[in-house]
Amino acid sequence: MTDETKKAILVVGGGMSGLSAALEAAEAGYQVVLVEKNAYVGGRVAQLHQYFPKLCPPYCGLEINFRRVKSNPRITIHTLAEVTSIEGAPGDFTVKVKVSPRYVNDKCTACGKCADAVSATIPNPFNYGLDQIKAAYLPHDLAMPLRYVIDPSIAGTDEGQKAAAACPYGAVDLGDAGQELSLNVGAVIWAAGWTPYDPSKIEYYNFDKSPNIVTNVQFERLAAVNGPTSGAIQRPGDGAAPKKVAFIQCAGSRDENHLPFCSSICCLASLKQSTYVMEKLPEAEITIYFIDIRAMDRNEDFYTKVKASNKVQFVKSKIAMITPQANGNLILEGENTATGERFKAEHDLVVLATGMQPNTALSQVPFDVTYDPYGFLTSGQAVIGVGTVRRPSEVVTCVQDGTSAALKAIQAVGR
Ligand SMILES: Cc1cc2nc3c(=O)[nH]c(=O)nc-3n(C[C@H](O)[C@H](O)[C@H](O)COP(=O)(O)OP(=O)(O)OC[C@H]3O[C@@H](n4cnc5c(N)ncnc54)[C@H](O)[C@@H]3O)c2cc1C
Repeated sequence: MTDETKKAILVVGGGMSGLSAALEAAEAGYQVVLVEKNAYVGGRVAQLHQYFPKLCPPYCGLEINFRRVKSNPRITIHTLAEVTSIEGAPGDFTVKVKVSPRYVNDKCTACGKCADAVSATIPNPFNYGLDQIKAAYLPHDLAMPLRYVIDPSIAGTDEGQKAAAACPYGAVDLGDAGQELSLNVGAVIWAAGWTPYDPSKIEYYNFDKSPNIVTNVQFERLAAVNGPTSGAIQRPGDGAAPKKVAFIQCAGSRDENHLPFCSSICCLASLKQSTYVMEKLPEAEITIYFIDIRAMDRNEDFYTKVKASNKVQFVKSKIAMITPQANGNLILEGENTATGERFKAEHDLVVLATGMQPNTALSQVPFDVTYDPYGFLTSGQAVIGVGTVRRPSEVVTCVQDGTSAALKAIQAVGR
């Protein structure tokens, strides 16, 4: 290992936490390798319509970071890549990385002729399966890298051949076998992020029985201009504009049978999403069913502002049951814990505010690290956890955490 590689820092995960850590370390003069599982960097914020509390588009902040990455020769990015093993100790790690085939090389100009040529489709992962995309696809229109992907399901088929024949630049490479990388680095930062809690596990909400029950992450896509409905909020079941929208807080959260912890951002996400409804469907009725509203620090002002609009009805209740009706509407049952009254309410679109599960609870770090009972990485370890693998958090906190992780990594490589 040379002194140069010993000083290199590996960042696993290219969401806001990982990008922040990578940029801070690289701008301080260190070599950084960023390994991202998706075909693009940016993480889940790329799928948001707007950010609370300012209601600005997340792409503003992401683009600034992408520009910083592009202008920094010290950062190397591997997409479709995952770490398979880590050995060693701070100052001297050996890490194996598996890069899956993209079947499209860097000659791609994102012209889209490969997609035009194929007819096979797959559920669109960027839109959380709300629509289909061609099996030769650009992950989304502002993706970094801006390069198509051929889905493995068509790589060895006639459809794959059609995509290759249609490409004027020789960019489709059906022989791409991926690669195995071995990296020597001085520090490892784990920024693998979070996954929305699976709502089908909350049986009494009948998520799988009605297309008109969506999750909060799907609702972001329904409001986004580059989403499945070009930003028109529609019921997935019939494309109608909803007239009575319900947001159910703590869907699976603060519940010992599901996620026992509070994800800290879901109340703010629903408040934000109620502003999407107010703006796009001013006639619609909006109800937020909540246990208590958690809006900390400066976000309290945002809560106050939404409340002051008088367009949102707040009902203090943990909804006990959702029953889909033949006409596509949903009956919600619960108890108003402020008045003690039991109620049934009919809505035509229901948004479940599901929480954030750390990816470390679903897929562990291939190294001897410790986790709290919920699967979050604990502090002070040889592999440095950052962002939502440490605790559920909003973007500002992830960016700050990324900066502190970069500093810890710099200290580790200096040992
Ligand atoms: C409905 C909803 C709305 C929200 N709205 C807002 C908002 O308005 N404002 C706000 O501040 N916050 C908001 N948040 C929170 C915000 O999404 C998170 O703070 C942010 O996504 C955290 O970034 P991250 O980098 O930690 O994780 P992620 O965004 O999950 O990024 C992690 C990255 O790591 C990659 N990865 C995963 N596993 C691996 C692996 N094994 N190897 C390599 N790469 C891997 C993933 O593909 C991903 O790119 C919202 C959350 C929800 C649920």
